Amino acid sequence: MSNYAETKPHAVLTPYPLQGHINPMFKLAKLLHLRGFHITFVNTEYNHKRLLKSRGPNSLDGFIDFSFETIPDGLTPMDGDVSQDLDSLRESIRKNCYQPFCEVLARLKDSANDGLIPPVSCFVSDSFMPFTMQVAEELALPIVLLFPSSAFTFLSVLHFKTLIQKGLIPLKDESYLTNGYLDTKVDWIPGLRNFRLKDLPDFIRTTDPNDLMIEFVIEVADRFHKASAIVFNTSNELESDIMNVLDSMFPSLYTIHIGPFASFLNQSPQNDLTSLDSNLWKEDTKCLEWLETNEPGSVVYVNFGSITVMSQEKLLEFAWGLANSKKPFLWIIRPDLVIGGSVILSSEFVNEISDRGLIASWCPQEKVLNHPSIGGFLTHCGWNSTTESICAGVPMLCWPFFGDQPTNCRFICNEWEIGLEIDTDVKREEVEKLINELMVGEKGKKMKEKAMELKKKAEEDTRPYGSSYMNLDKLIKEVLVKQKLDLSC
Ligand code: UDP
Repeated sequence: MSNYAETKPHAVLTPYPLQGHINPMFKLAKLLHLRGFHITFVNTEYNHKRLLKSRGPNSLDGFIDFSFETIPDGLTPMDGDVSQDLDSLRESIRKNCYQPFCEVLARLKDSANDGLIPPVSCFVSDSFMPFTMQVAEELALPIVLLFPSSAFTFLSVLHFKTLIQKGLIPLKDESYLTNGYLDTKVDWIPGLRNFRLKDLPDFIRTTDPNDLMIEFVIEVADRFHKASAIVFNTSNELESDIMNVLDSMFPSLYTIHIGPFASFLNQSPQNDLTSLDSNLWKEDTKCLEWLETNEPGSVVYVNFGSITVMSQEKLLEFAWGLANSKKPFLWIIRPDLVIGGSVILSSEFVNEISDRGLIASWCPQEKVLNHPSIGGFLTHCGWNSTTESICAGVPMLCWPFFGDQPTNCRFICNEWEIGLEIDTDVKREEVEKLINELMVGEKGKKMKEKAMELKKKAEEDTRPYGSSYMNLDKLIKEVLVKQKLDLSC
C-alpha cells in the first residue's frame, strides 16, 4: 500500500437522491476535500446521468481525490429532467439500496488494496438513507448524518411520536385541514416558541393512521442516537436555542451546526473543485447577463425550487401579481412546475412584462441571489433556498409548499423577521401588495437590514475561529478521523 493511501482519510458521502439534499451534501464534500479528505460521492444512477447531461459528459472526471460512484435507486428510469415520485423513491431506497451500496464499497476496497485510493475510513450520509447506518455499523466505521434541513425541523421530527401519543395526529378527517384545528398551539416542544400545528412539517397533515411517510420518519428518528454525529447546515446565530436543546437531548452525541455552507464555501480558498457543481437541471446563465442591466436592489427573484408544483390558476395569480407590481423580476419556471401540464402564459402577460421580466427554466441560484441587482426573493422556503438567501442578505416573500417549508417560513417571518408570508390560496392583489412592501416599503427596508445582519453573522460563524468553523474542525478531529488517529497511535 502506498504512503498516500495510508495517510488520507477517505469519506464516502451519500445524499438522499433529490436536488435539495444533493446540494448541501456536495458542499460538505467540498469542505472536507479542502481539509485533506479523499471523497467518494455516491449518487443514484438516475441523478448521475442527469448531472452529466446538465454539466457535460466529462464534467465529473479527472478531479484529484474526488470521485463519483453510483447505485441504482430501484425505480424504472424516466425520460426528461423531472423529479421522481417522492413516495416511490422513499420506499425503493428503503428496500433496494443496501446491496448495491455494499458492492460500491467492495469495489473501493479493491482499489484501496491496489494502492490506488486510501481505504474508506468514514461515512457521511443524509439522515434519510437508513442503509448507510447499517453498513457503517457492520464495518465499525464512524458515520456522520447530515440532516438536510434546519435544526428546528429536526426537533419537530423527533416529536412526531409524541404527536401521535397525544392524539394530535393523524387528523380525524379532511375537514381538520381547514376548520381551524391546525391553529392548535404546540407549546410543549422546548425551543419552539409560539408554534402551531400548522408550523410543523406538513407530513403531520395526514388522516391515515398508517401513513408511510410518518412511519419512515419515526423509524429513521429512532436510529439517530446510533450515529457518531448529526450535523446541520445552520449556524449558531440562526438556531442557538435549538442547538442547546439538542445538546441536552443527546448528551453523548455530537449534534452540531457547521453551516451555513453557502457562506462557508464563499470564504474558503478556491481550488480546482470550485467549478464542480451539483445542479441536475442545465443552468441558464443568460439571466446573469440580464441582471447586469438592472439597477442595484431592484429585481424580484422568484423560484420555487426543484419539487414544488402548482395549478395553472395559481401560476396565473403569481404571474399577474408580479406584472402588476411593476417591478423587474426574474422568474424561474421549471418545465414541470404546473400540475398535469405545460406552463401557459398569455401573450397579453408576455407583452405586459416584456420590458422588465425574464423567465428562465433553471439558474445558478447562489450567483443570482448574490447579484447586486436582486432586492428580494419570492421563495417556497426550502432550507437551501432559505440559507442561501440569508447568506446573500436578501429578504424573502414566503409561499411554503410542503415538508419542512411551513416550519422554515415560521422562522423566516417570526423569529428572524426577514420575510413576509403569502397565503396558500394565493391571489394576485396580495402578491402585488407584498412585492411592493418587500421592495420599497418600510417593512421591506427593515427586513433587508436584518437579512444583512444575518449575512454578516453567517460569515463570522464560518470563517476561521467562528463557531461553525471550529465545529467542523472538531467533527473532523474527534469523529471522522478519530479512529484513524487511534489506530496509528
Ligand atoms: N436551485 C438552483 N437553481 C434553480 C432552482 C434551485 O440552483 O433554478 C438550487 C438552490 O440553490 C438550492 C436547491 O436547488 O440549493 C433547492 O433546494 P431547496 O432546499 O431550496 O428546495 P427543494 O428543491 O428541495 O424544494
